[in-house]
Amino acid sequence: MRLSPALWSTPAAYLNHAAPDLPVLFFSPATLQDTARRFLAGFPGLVTYAVKANDGDAVLDNLMTAGIEAFDVASPFEMEKIRARNPRAVLHYNNPVRSEAEIRIALGYGMASWSVDDPFELDKLLAAGLPDRTEIAVRLRLPVAGAAYHFGAKFGADPDLAVALLKRVAEAGFVPAMTFHPGTQCEAASAWVTYIEASADVARRAGVRLARLNVGGGFPSHRTGDAPALEVIFAAIGEATARAFGADAPALVCEPGRGLVAESFTLAARIKAIRHDGSVFLNDGIYGGLAELPIVGNIDRITVLGEEGWRTGAAVERVVFGPTCDSLDRLKGAVGLPADARPGDYVVFRGLGAYSTATVTRFNGYGAIEIVTTDFPG
Ligand SMILES: *Cc1c(COP(=O)(O)O)cnc(C)c1O
Repeated sequence: MRLSPALWSTPAAYLNHAAPDLPVLFFSPATLQDTARRFLAGFPGLVTYAVKANDGDAVLDNLMTAGIEAFDVASPFEMEKIRARNPRAVLHYNNPVRSEAEIRIALGYGMASWSVDDPFELDKLLAAGLPDRTEIAVRLRLPVAGAAYHFGAKFGADPDLAVALLKRVAEAGFVPAMTFHPGTQCEAASAWVTYIEASADVARRAGVRLARLNVGGGFPSHRTGDAPALEVIFAAIGEATARAFGADAPALVCEPGRGLVAESFTLAARIKAIRHDGSVFLNDGIYGGLAELPIVGNIDRITVLGEEGWRTGAAVERVVFGPTCDSLDRLKGAVGLPADARPGDYVVFRGLGAYSTATVTRFNGYGAIEIVTTDFPG
């Protein structure tokens, strides 16, 4: 992937000019900075960016310019990437499973917070010589619905174990905190509220006052229907914390990935062919920039640009395939595309900044995606 230095006003301006035959991701720094400022202004606590959603250099630079100073890092590579840009950035190591070598590397970078969800992982941390008064956040998991898919299947301690871990953290003299991740693309605030109430219950049962509560990521991006009302979620998180913890309310932290970065990228994939059965082949698919669509669901913000302008025909449901020779490489179900779409046109997908560049593969020789900077995402 290369970052094109040219600045175009819109994706259409570039597509009309360059007629690229490779997929293009258009990056709007202004949109990313606006979203970052919206989180900073609205979230009632510290905003950290979950680097895994998109670790592009331009993304990190623009987030820092907008005022993001804290980052959720999961691997030595991510730590190094942030430290290289900002030696004073605050790093939270919230991947709760770490090798001893990774722990040593992280100690070298200086972590402000470590999450833990397992007694053996806590043993490793307690033996590792963390500086005094380091924060250790116990990661809770609950069977909560509401996310496009949830992370509880992999990480997190059930409430009884969380109580035991929290007691041990406090007894060992570390700063006790809790964390959870409600899943990704949570459309409703209820997922956070349930977790906040359960966290307060765990802290009460452990007899521990939490210094901080990290409410994870999961903030939705605009995929279908109306744009999500982030401020409603922010307010619900603040109110639930005050209600559940009362006078002992911990300081809040969040770690959005998708919610911060998704809207700042737009993907244009070219129609390679429309086949005799009406199916459409694009030059990008699930092994490239569209990896998430089969997992999180198709988006409905799709337009088609032809040589003469945006296609306006009535939507026709089409099966959409990616370019590789793997039959899994198709979008779910059918996608409505304008009836007058033609081979050579560009199918433009809005809001694809999260888990797109981050997960692109070169499977079957595809996956070379050009990144072009634009003033506006669409
Ligand atoms: C992936 C991840 C996030 C970011 O999730 P989004 O749904 O992209 O906001 C936040 N915290 C943790 C621990 C994660 O693993």
